[in-house]
Amino acid sequence: ILSGRTALVTGSTSGIGLGIARLYAQAGARVMLNGFGKPEEIARARAEVGAAMGVAEAPYSAADLSKPEQVRQMVKEAQEQLGSLDILVNNAGIQFVAPVDEFPEDRFDAIIAINFTSNFHAIKAALPGMKARGWGRIINIASAHGLVASPNKSAYVSAKHAVVGLTKTVAIEVAKTPITCNAICPGFVRTPLAEAQVGPLAKQHGVSEQVALEDYLLVHQPSKRWIEVEEVAQMALYLCGPGSGGVNGAALSIDGGWTAG
Ligand code: NAD
Repeated sequence: ILSGRTALVTGSTSGIGLGIARLYAQAGARVMLNGFGKPEEIARARAEVGAAMGVAEAPYSAADLSKPEQVRQMVKEAQEQLGSLDILVNNAGIQFVAPVDEFPEDRFDAIIAINFTSNFHAIKAALPGMKARGWGRIINIASAHGLVASPNKSAYVSAKHAVVGLTKTVAIEVAKTPITCNAICPGFVRTPLAEAQVGPLAKQHGVSEQVALEDYLLVHQPSKRWIEVEEVAQMALYLCGPGSGGVNGAALSIDGGWTAG
């Protein structure tokens, strides 16, 4: 499906981003990775995605997405090393949980910078090339928290609502071109970022991890099961595939029924 296409997936050394990068490479795209991690984790991700591309290791940018200059540099490197940038997936994200009146200011600013503002800088840098070549896909990994709120997540919920707003605005601006911009809004997906929240919840409520998962973390996810990384990756692949050109400015839920309630 993606033969001849090029893609940059931010935050792709782990979790959802790695799953999307892997599936894109398997579908024939040349993919640049980005994200933090131990050197061996980054090497493993590069080798795994590289193998699907038929090379020893996938291209990689170590850009820190909290720094606008590094976001711009990352997009430039992708364009240079891949020859073009057809697909931009803004996926990198972090989480911090605290009541708003106790929320550390530096954590709030970091979440807004990484989860939201980096999307703007990456889109701004990538769009001129897409317009010049007459095709493009921008996919922003928002969240169910881009559509509804939960307590103690003021920064994350604000950032993800902003991502949905940015997605809609860009979509309208590119609507007459063969470029689309959409957001994916997952519920709880089985990744290190989300799984790390189960243990503390179990401790806090004095229950088993299974009870903490179903009754506390997935309290609003009626399916009572994790969404799998591969399911989110399939949605991200669909948005680049044939017949997807009419889907623009959408905030697509994949949340086991959470936001239907
Ligand atoms: P993860 O922790 O497994 O991966 C996050 C990735 O972002 C990693 O590669 C990490 O190195 C990278 N990253 C973090 N800070 C960075 C920075 N400053 N610069 C560059 N890279 C940075 O998390 P995940 O669960 O796969 O989350 C991916 C995205 O999906 C996030 O935007 C998250 O908000 C969103 N999301 C996750 C879930 C879930 O339940 N896991 C649900 C909805 C939305």
